[in-house]
Amino acid sequence: MKPTIALVGRPNVGKSTLFNRLTRSRDALVADQPGLTRDRHYGHGRVGSKPYLVVDTGGFEPVVDEGILFEMAKQTLQAVDEADAIVFLVDGRNGVTPQDKIIANRLRQSGRPVFLAVNKAEGMNRAIAAAEFYELGLGDPLAISAAHGDGVRDLVELVLEPF
Ligand code: GDP
Ligand code: MG
Repeated sequence: MKPTIALVGRPNVGKSTLFNRLTRSRDALVADQPGLTRDRHYGHGRVGSKPYLVVDTGGFEPVVDEGILFEMAKQTLQAVDEADAIVFLVDGRNGVTPQDKIIANRLRQSGRPVFLAVNKAEGMNRAIAAAEFYELGLGDPLAISAAHGDGVRDLVELVLEPF
C-alpha cells in the first residue's frame, strides 16, 4: 500500500499549489479515485523509488456544526484520520494566525505524524521564515516554496522516510 499524505491548512496557504507539484511526476495521475470520497482530491506521485498518494483537502474551513464554532470541516478531518502522514501548511508571509493554532491543536490530537511546512518562503531566509512557527508546537517548521519548488523534495523525503 502506498502511504497517503494529506495536505491540510487554512485557505490560501498553497495546498493546491503543493498538490500540483507533488503529483507532477511522469507517471502522475491527477484524478479522483473511484471509491474514494469525491469532495477530496487525490493524486499519485513518486520521489525516487517511493510512490505515494496525496490528498488535497480543499481547506480547513471552520464550519458551524450543531452550534459549535470553529469545528473543522468533516471532510478534512476524515482525510486526516485516513492519512499516514499530514503536511500542515502555513503561510510564511502572514505569520501564525489564530486559525493556524486551532488547526495545530486538532492535528496534534490526531495521533498522525505531522510535518509543518512554512510555504511562500522563496526569497526569504529559511531559518527566519520558519522561526515564528515553532510556537505551534509541531516540531521543526520546514520552509518551502510550493510555487517555486524550494524545499519540496526535502519535505517529501522526510515525510516518506518511514515508508
Ligand atoms: P489553497 O487555498 O491552500 O489551496 O492555496 P492555493 O494553492 O490555491 O494558493 C493560494 C495562493 O497562494 C495562490 O495565489 C498561489 O499562487 C499562492 N501561492 C501558493 N504557493 C506559493 C508560494 O510558494 N509562494 C508564493 N509567493 N505564493 C504561493
Ligand atoms: Mg486549494
